[in-house]
Parts: sequence; structure tokens; C-alpha cells
Amino acid sequence: MRISQLFYQTLKEVPRDAQIPSHQLMFRAGMIQQLASGIYNYLPLAQKSLRKIETIIREELEKKGCQEVLLPVVQPAELWEKSGRWGYYGPELLRFKDRKNGDFCLGPTHEEVITDMVSKVLKSYKQLPWNLFQIQGKFRDEVRPRFGLMRGREFIMKDGYSFDTDEEASKETYWKMYEAYTAIFKRCGLTFRAVDAATGNIGGDMSHEFQVLAKSGEDMILSCDSCDYAANAEKASTPRTASNLTAEGQLPLEDIHTPGSRTIEEVSRFLKKDGSDFIKSIVYMIDDEAVLVLIRGDMEINESKLQTLCEANAVFLADDQTVLDVTGADTGFAGPVGLRKEIKIVADYSVTSSLNLVSGANRNDYHKINVNYSRDFKADLLGDLSFASAGDPCPKCAGKLEEHRGIEVGQVFYLGTKYSIPMECNYLDKDGKAHPAVMGCYGIGVGRTLAASIEQNHDEDGIIWPMAISPFEAVILPLQMNKEEVVEAGNSLYNNLVAAGIDVALDDREERAGFKFKDADLIGYPIQIIIGARSLEAGDVEIKIRKTGEKKNVPLDEIEMFVQ
Ligand code: ATP
Ligand code: MG
Ligand code: MG
Ligand code: MG
Repeated sequence: MRISQLFYQTLKEVPRDAQIPSHQLMFRAGMIQQLASGIYNYLPLAQKSLRKIETIIREELEKKGCQEVLLPVVQPAELWEKSGRWGYYGPELLRFKDRKNGDFCLGPTHEEVITDMVSKVLKSYKQLPWNLFQIQGKFRDEVRPRFGLMRGREFIMKDGYSFDTDEEASKETYWKMYEAYTAIFKRCGLTFRAVDAATGNIGGDMSHEFQVLAKSGEDMILSCDSCDYAANAEKASTPRTASNLTAEGQLPLEDIHTPGSRTIEEVSRFLKKDGSDFIKSIVYMIDDEAVLVLIRGDMEINESKLQTLCEANAVFLADDQTVLDVTGADTGFAGPVGLRKEIKIVADYSVTSSLNLVSGANRNDYHKINVNYSRDFKADLLGDLSFASAGDPCPKCAGKLEEHRGIEVGQVFYLGTKYSIPMECNYLDKDGKAHPAVMGCYGIGVGRTLAASIEQNHDEDGIIWPMAISPFEAVILPLQMNKEEVVEAGNSLYNNLVAAGIDVALDDREERAGFKFKDADLIGYPIQIIIGARSLEAGDVEIKIRKTGEKKNVPLDEIEMFVQ
């Protein structure tokens, strides 16, 4: 690519909402452009990198026998009603009607569509296993789109789904995918950890997240200082069994008004008020229906716990009379980076009895009142719960837990028959008996992986790409565009390298050397090949390695070997 022709611009200014390096640098390097909140145009530099990540993903998945499909973005509501998710997926699911008044949504994930598709083909155990994936745009109407491609509303995901005959085979597939993910993120040049993970909205009982370690990460990871234990803080802190509501009707949903805002400092002060026992106890439970949080009097609340609580749609029982509500979706918490320092107190609540409480309803601005936990939640979940944090003992050995920030770039789930039963995805065994297929699902955020790479690899001058996912492997910088021999050397080197299959750019713009250097550092080409009039006289060009800053002279005719 001749840079004089490249569709891009480099910029000095960044928009105010670009708070983390990857967002700032991708913007400044002219890789992305915002179209609407959380919705981006990918310009050629970004698209080239994304394609390289996608190629790595395809190669590693195909090695494991996965097959690529492409499913529609628009999905009919019936499928979601069949799986039972239409009712509770929440406002992240963008729903709309077509001209015939039929209900549809934009796919945030594709369990329903793929299970339906497979059910139409699956007949016999002899056909299994199948492991299907696609790379495609997803839409999630995120409550707080932020950090550029890191948390968009429309974003590119690789999502894969496996179908096996039984649990054992499915778990084998799960570990194969775990291996494939490890290989993918290694090839992308990332430093990451696979951590034990809570299952969230998708469900299932075994899951790992692939977390890229970075200061700006939105997730808190706990890992042991002496063994290989690592978990998402949420998982380390919460019971795994879903709580049981005895009957939905017992928990009326009440609309809540919004009387005002308080700062996080005010709320923290309030929660920590000395000598007071207004904070009762904590029960932290998540299922698809409700989250209930009570705060124990002896519990220390720090900002990160508060944040976790808020994200869990928590309700704080302040005293017998009032409830301090800091429901996650309403709070304005933006994670450790860009913490908005403001919590909206949604309501002051009168609780009818000291045992009856208010819980989150996983629905914006709605809460369940008069929740009675011994009645409405399983009693065996109430014991011994607390938030794990740094310094706590490791659950696996005598070591201590450490906290790290992580970016979730991928996740693998064992699903079991959660979707195959309601979606009737069955096969016949060799005796002609029907069984539901046993499933797993596996996601990778392609754009988020790109952003995470920049989070991990940059300096004050710009991006530092790992070779494997760099938009270009090298750039040629002819410094004096008014000197014919320099221009010519640039052109002929460019032609040779292209012919040798190297993905190289030529900065053939009529610009000053300093300008080209700055741009090259910003865009982050791993190798800069600098053609200056003086060294050219000696038959040399200068090579700069972006990552180390190391420079050396190389004879012009050896460049090809060097770059390869
Ligand atoms: P998060 O916890 O960050 O909201 P998630 O757990 O909801 O992510 P999954 O359902 O596991 O996401 O989706 C698979 C992958 O898709 C994630 O691991 C992540 O890399 C990517 N992803 C999810 N949401 C977004 C988003 N809003 N923008 C970009 N990538 C995303
Ligand atoms: Mg999410
Ligand atoms: Mg997650
Ligand atoms: Mg996830």
C-alpha cells in the first residue's frame, strides 16, 4: 500500500470520551471513526488488523475440526420465546417490529438460531460431533458503551457452538476449545490468563474467561500467588447455584421514581458510618430472575466491592426504614477508569418488615419489594458468603489471592442441554432412543482483542503492534522526496518486498522526515525501513524496530532477508 493513497488521517486531538490508550490511539491513528454511541466505522488500518485476527481464529479453529457458517443478524422473537430468553434478556437485546408487526431482535449471541438450525439437520448420533462457528457483527444495547471497540454496541464476535452426544464428549470438546483459545491469543501476542468464570446470562455450569491483563480492564481477577488458581472476582465471591424464587407472583415489581443523586464518596461514607449497625448482612445471589444483596454489619465496603455490588444490580438495606438503591444500570459507574463518581439514589424505600427487603429485578428502574429471603430464596445459599479480595486465602492451596485488572477477550461455556431441550435439538441413539444434544458455546470479541492488544502494547508515541496482527508488517520511509535516488530506492524496495509476499507500506507522501517518523511510530508498524540520502550512498538503509527502538544499518540488498 502506498500511503499517499491510503484512506486514513492521523490526528493530534482525541475526543473527550476517549479515556484509555487503545481508544485514543486507534482514533489518532485513523483506524476507527464513531458513527453513533458504541457504533464505529472501521477504516482500512483497523480492518486489516481485524482480518489478521480473524485469520488466526479461523486457522486455529479449523485445526480443531470446527466449520464456519454465517447466520443472520436479525432474529425472530419466536426462537427466543422457545428458549425462554425473550422474557428476561433485558434491555441489552434490541427489539423491533417488522412491517407485519412481527417481533424481531438484533442478535447479541446466536444460541437460539444455531440450535434451531442444527435441530433441522440432526437425526442420528452418527452425525455428531459438530462444532460450528461464525465471525459476524453482534448488537448489544450496552448501558454504557465506552472505550471504543472495547465495549461497543455493534461489535465483531467470533461465536462458536458445539454439539455432542453426551456430557463426556461435550466436555472434551470444551477443553479442545480452551486449547484453541490459548493458541489464538498466544498468536495474537497477548499476555493473558484463562480464569474460572461466572456464567452470567448464557447459563451452564462450567466456564472460563480469557482475560488480557491490563490496568484499564473492567474485570477484577483474583489469582493465587502460589498455585494456578485464577477466577473472575465475581465467581470467587458468589455461590454457583442459582437462587430459587418460590413463585414469581410473590415478588411484585414496583415502579420507582428517581429522587436525586449522590456522589460515591457520600454513599461510601454512609455505608461505613462508624458504630452503626444499619448494614445488616450480605446475601449475594444471581440467577436469571433476581439479585438480592444485604450488607453485613461487619463488612468493609471499598470502592471495588461497591462497584461489584452496583454492577450486580444490588440494593443496600440502609436501615429498617430505608433502602439505598444503587442499581448497577443506573449508577454511572464506569469501572476503575473514568469512574463517574456519582451514584443515583433511585429511591428511599419503606420496608414493611425488617425481614422483607428489596431486590434488583434485572430490569432497569424496577425492583422487587417485600422479598423475604428465607421464603423466596433457597436457605442453603445464605451461609458463609463474602467477597473475595486481595489477601484472602486461596480456595485451592495455602497461598494468598492477588487482584489484577483484566479485559475479557473470550469466553468458553459448557452449556449442557440448556438450549437443546427447549429448542428440541435431539438425536437418536443406536437403539433408536431420542436424546437432546449436549452443547457448548465459545465467544471471542474480535475488536476487543485488537483494542486489548493496544492496551498492552503501546508507548507515549503510539501503538506497538505484534507482527502477527499489525495492519502492515513494515513501512518504508523515503526521507528526502526531492531526491530522485531516494524515491527510486523506496519504490524498487517496495516492489521487491510486495513481490516477496511481505505486507509492506510505502510512505511516499511529500512530507518532512519528522512527520513521517511520528506517523510511523503512532501507527506502530513493527519495522521501519528508513531510506536516507546519506546512508543510501553507502548502499545501506536504516532499520528501526518499533518495539525496542533499536536501529541498525542494513545493506539495501539484504533487506528482504531481514524483514522475513
Ligand atoms: P462483558 O462481561 O465484557 O460484558 P460478556 O461476558 O457479556 O462481556 P460474552 O457474552 O461472553 O460477553 O461474549 C463473548 C465475547 O464478546 C466477550 O468475551 C468479549 O470479548 C466480546 N464482547 C462482549 N460484549 C462486547 C462489547 N460490548 N463490545 C465488544 N466486545 C464485546
Ligand atoms: Mg456483557
Ligand atoms: Mg463477562
Ligand atoms: Mg463473557
